[in-house]
Amino acid sequence: MTDCLFCKIASGEVPSFKIYEDDVVYAFLDINPVNLGHALVIPKKHHKNLYDLPDETLSHMARETKKLAAAIKEAVSADGINIMMNNDPAAGQIIFHAHVHIIPRFEGDGYKHWKGLELSEEKIKKSAEKIQSILS
Ligand code: AMP
Ligand code: ZN
Repeated sequence: MTDCLFCKIASGEVPSFKIYEDDVVYAFLDINPVNLGHALVIPKKHHKNLYDLPDETLSHMARETKKLAAAIKEAVSADGINIMMNNDPAAGQIIFHAHVHIIPRFEGDGYKHWKGLELSEEKIKKSAEKIQSILS
């Protein structure tokens, strides 16, 4: 997709702080990082989000994400790593070219996880049953 920022980054038309590339994926540092070393892993071909990614591309991204996460953890001496993917605007996706965030974490860095809802077991059980029925 020609007007897509991440397509332009993958092709080199827009500069980025590249950390890795192969035939399928391109990885670079986020310009507004949560912490130093925050990286994005993208497919070189345009796919909008998780649902649009071919299984083979997703598997390749997962393998490379694992390798890159270990290298980033070592490079910035992180205490932990979050792997995150935002899909659709309601989930915070602002760039509509699929990407996985690799976010280094440091003890006491103040980055907050979500607060868990206190739902009844009945409600949780019903949603598990509904998801299972959609999958079957
Ligand atoms: P998301 O909210 O998951 O769509 O995240 C998009 C991410 O892309 C954000 O963390 C941005 O900081 C990052 N971003 C946007 N433009 C660039 C750019 N030119 N180079 C590197 N990262 C970028
Ligand atoms: Zn794109």
